[in-house]
Amino acid sequence: MLKAYRTEIHPTPDQSQQIVRTFGVCRYLYNLYIATNQSRYQQGLPFLSAYDFDQWINREYALEYPWIKAVSSKARKKAIVNAATAYRRFFKGLGGHPRFKKKHQQSASFYAPKNNAGDWTIERHRIKIPTLGWVRLKEFGYLPVGSRVTGGTITQQADRFFVSVTVKAGPPAMAEPPSGEGIGVDVGIKEFATTSQGDVFPNINQTAKIQKLERRLRLAQRAGSRKFEERKRQGLPVHGGKNLAKNRLRIQKLSWRLANQRRAYRETVIQALVKTKPRFITVEHLNIRGMLKNRHLSKAIQDQGFYAFKQRLVQAANQHGIEIREVGMFYPSSKRCSRCGSKKLDLTLKDRIYDCPQCGLSIDRDLNAANNLAQAKEYKILH
Ligand SMILES: [Zn+2]
Repeated sequence: MLKAYRTEIHPTPDQSQQIVRTFGVCRYLYNLYIATNQSRYQQGLPFLSAYDFDQWINREYALEYPWIKAVSSKARKKAIVNAATAYRRFFKGLGGHPRFKKKHQQSASFYAPKNNAGDWTIERHRIKIPTLGWVRLKEFGYLPVGSRVTGGTITQQADRFFVSVTVKAGPPAMAEPPSGEGIGVDVGIKEFATTSQGDVFPNINQTAKIQKLERRLRLAQRAGSRKFEERKRQGLPVHGGKNLAKNRLRIQKLSWRLANQRRAYRETVIQALVKTKPRFITVEHLNIRGMLKNRHLSKAIQDQGFYAFKQRLVQAANQHGIEIREVGMFYPSSKRCSRCGSKKLDLTLKDRIYDCPQCGLSIDRDLNAANNLAQAKEYKILH
């Protein structure tokens, strides 16, 4: 079994410089591969494979531009292969024409395979990265010491650096099979999740903390576009400027913090759900694309990250031996009475309480939906 880890690293100034240089060369080669194939296409020449391009770079191009060889040859090769993969997707009709990578993109990364015996050794406080040497870890003891790693990716986000590695691990020790009662989980905008046990996880995006961050992000974005327009008006290069660069970093940091807090919250909810060891968890099939068409709700839905939530939930549940059931899009989880089974077709989004005209049940709408999910007899099992 493979397990992926991602953690922050603290490179020395020399190491950071080397990392940033590698990003630069990788981006340069990625773009050069696309540009070369574009011009070959226009001249009626055949498509240049990643292999041939790499040979040409090493044998000819790098003689003229020696700085290319200042970074790891494996990282360079991987960048070219990535560009070729983008082309392959394009040729298969799976994606658009490959696009040039810009310098100020949100994040940059490169892959470093194991070159020498000592590469990718993990110690409690440091990791040995090919061509960089020992790099300090921010969180001590998070990466499994002594495990076998064959390669990893170094990423930069805002002004922080991260390493992602895939580690070979044995199957998790299963203490005892989950024996708790199965539960239904209803997700939504008002509350993030409601369970048939009556647990309610509020929508974190409505908390003062997140809204304050959102406001700061909006202000920074507005200031950024103002500065941009100002420079354009004065005829200055729009990507230059110290203030603009500072602002860009600010925006990246804020978006990153927001995304992180949302992810951490989803993780908290997932851990709380699997902790009770239910035999199964039933969720709804979410028609996210359809929901996003509602322009009044689309931002609120996107911010909740339902898709990521479900993916992680399936992963976490499978690790604990919990079955994840998914009911179809047309299962009437909201409109059905969870006590007598009669349907209330005139229920609207505004009705927060489900009042059953048949049996007199009066219950929170989300709890009613969660109960219905827990009772579902037809479902798909997700893995
Ligand atoms: Zn009823």
